[in-house]
Amino acid sequence: MSLSTLDGTLHRGCGGRYALQQEAVTMRLSGMSAEVTREFFRCEKCGHEQRTIEQRDAAEKAATEQIRAAHDLLAPKAIRQLRESLGLTVAQWAELIYGTPKGIVEGWEKGKYLQNREADAMIRSLADRATLESRAAKAGVTLPVVEGAQSAVAADGAGAGDAAGSGSETPSA
Ligand SMILES: [Zn+2]
Repeated sequence: MSLSTLDGTLHRGCGGRYALQQEAVTMRLSGMSAEVTREFFRCEKCGHEQRTIEQRDAAEKAATEQIRAAHDLLAPKAIRQLRESLGLTVAQWAELIYGTPKGIVEGWEKGKYLQNREADAMIRSLADRATLESRAAKAGVTLPVVEGAQSAVAADGAGAGDAAGSGSETPSA
């Protein structure tokens, strides 16, 4: 997907033309920040500026990746794999992680949102069975039986997660 769709186009307000520019911006996500370069368009005649959704999304994605690397936060896939390895639904998982809204937890797994450091630490800690059991007891979550629980896992997980996702926001990269 091209980011230069407005490059050279006419600014009808003044008769000038838009040109692609770059700016350094500080983006804040989940209480953390990153310096990224964001593209935008500026009318060469009057200075009017336009920022497309693609440009905003690209900058946010770059910031997310930078923050994830800087703070060593779990990747979306890793979060999902840990949850699935424990046989937990998204709803149960969300309860264990401070009762975070289910939609947010789904967003973490899809890379739409970025978990903060506190949530990341909680997620990692749940890989430990004793911690998981203690947390589940506090949160009122019934854990699936560990031994030979494969069938129960499959049945429990169905329909809770991805059914509603349209996938329309999947980045082209
Ligand atoms: Zn203009």
